[in-house]
Amino acid sequence: MEEWQRLLVDGIRRSDQLPQDWRLAKEGVEQKDVEEIFPVRINAYYQSLIKDPMGPIGRQVIPDPEEIMDMDSPLDPLSEDEDSPVPAIVHRYPDRVLFLVTNQCPIYCRYCTRKRMIGTPEGVVTRDEVEEGISYIREHQEIRDIILSGGDPLMLKDDYLEYIVSSLREIPHVEIIRIGSRVPSSLPQRVTPALVSMLRKYHPVYMNLHFNHPDEITPETSLACNMLADAGIPLGCQTVLMKGVNDDPAVLKKLFQKLLTIRVKPYYLYQADLTRGANHFRTPVSTGLSIMREIQGHTSGMAVPHYVIDAPGGGGKIPVLPSDYMISMGDGDVVLKNYEGKIFTYPDPSTGGETMEKASSDGNDTYRETHPQTMHPGMIDEAR
Ligand SMILES: *Cc1c(COP(=O)(O)O)cnc(C)c1O
Ligand code: SF4
Repeated sequence: MEEWQRLLVDGIRRSDQLPQDWRLAKEGVEQKDVEEIFPVRINAYYQSLIKDPMGPIGRQVIPDPEEIMDMDSPLDPLSEDEDSPVPAIVHRYPDRVLFLVTNQCPIYCRYCTRKRMIGTPEGVVTRDEVEEGISYIREHQEIRDIILSGGDPLMLKDDYLEYIVSSLREIPHVEIIRIGSRVPSSLPQRVTPALVSMLRKYHPVYMNLHFNHPDEITPETSLACNMLADAGIPLGCQTVLMKGVNDDPAVLKKLFQKLLTIRVKPYYLYQADLTRGANHFRTPVSTGLSIMREIQGHTSGMAVPHYVIDAPGGGGKIPVLPSDYMISMGDGDVVLKNYEGKIFTYPDPSTGGETMEKASSDGNDTYRETHPQTMHPGMIDEAR
């Protein structure tokens, strides 16, 4: 057995294995009730990072009775099942697909958007479903970008993962392969020399990792990320904004800065989804916006991710920016506010008589920027 497999076996898989001082009960609901619906996994490495069960690392993985005290929110908030032409594929955008190759993960995050399937017997992805997914991609020439996800693709054995990646690489229209993985942050021992030398044969391979807190960056995670980066795999990070975990500009700024030191570029900061069993992690969108405002311009642009809301009902990821960067646009001037709150005017070249609205192919688009009279009154006031 390899070290990473040993760490999984030695970890916590049932709530009765939780240390006494990690036990939680609320209004008669206990952790063992939670685990019947949403499985528990805290591998021994990630467990070693937990100093305080209610701290930022503990909250991400220790089952909380609150998870089953809200059963009204949607199980599949992003309507992924509706955009699923074959069981393992989510095809929502024109040129790229999610390919869910496993429902296993190094830890079972309590906030997970896909907690309806993670670690459950019903959620298992069969070999036939993987075959069907590969065939779907082969038959759809418009797909140029594959995101292997799940679950965590790096939980698969090297030879099975290689079978999937090499099959995709043989498809002429597949340009890039991305792997979404929580492994480097939560089970870095899984990043072995054998894994890395296998992956580098199938470039261009990208990886989007998942770190939520600076305490997840350790000598072990640094080593794993450096091995991946040395193999030529560009590394990004997707972070979920969560109450009690990282809803603090100082924490996220430190996380994003530290990620750059291990060659990981912050890619997305996600507003937490309205997911059944995970609502207690949600923060107001205004919290996210004020965090972005305190990061943008105050530190390296390389450290600034896109803040996105994955729209409920399957609308996809929509970037959100604090609205006050652009105070107004019209009459030949764009009025802007910088990170220090200072106002600047950019003289805008004329569009040559053609309005944005005319230039747009989609008649539903309205570009309020070219029509100052339709601007929100508050925006005009600020511009004065
Ligand atoms: C996030 C996501 C993608 C990838 O989106 P990018 O913005 O290209 O990173 C693709 N498909 C689905 C369904 C997604 O949720
Ligand atoms: S690793 Fe990702 S898919 Fe797995 S439980 Fe955590 S958030 Fe969900």
